[in-house]
Amino acid sequence: MSKINWDSYLEPPDEEYPCEICGEHPDNCICPECHICGEIGYKRCYVNHGMTRTEEQKFSLECANRKWELETLREMEYFRLADMEDL
Ligand SMILES: [Zn+2]
Ligand SMILES: [Zn+2]
Repeated sequence: MSKINWDSYLEPPDEEYPCEICGEHPDNCICPECHICGEIGYKRCYVNHGMTRTEEQKFSLECANRKWELETLREMEYFRLADMEDL
C-alpha cells in the first residue's frame, strides 16, 4: 500500500508567477540555464553571473508586460463600471 504524500498537496503552487526575465509562464520559459548556478530565469544571474538577455527574451518580456498592463486596465475598468452601478 502506498502512503499518500500530503506534503506535495500542501505545497503552494508556484507556477502562477511568470518568469521575471522573459515574462513567460515557467512552463514556457525560454531562458537558458545559468552557467554558474544552473538556475533559470533569475535576475541575479543576469546581474551577477554574467548572463545576458537575448533579443528573444527582451521581446518576450515586453509582450508579457503589455499583456499584463492591458489586463490591469481592463480590470480597473471593470471595477469602475461595477462601482457606478452601485450608485
Ligand atoms: Zn524565462
Ligand atoms: Zn546564476
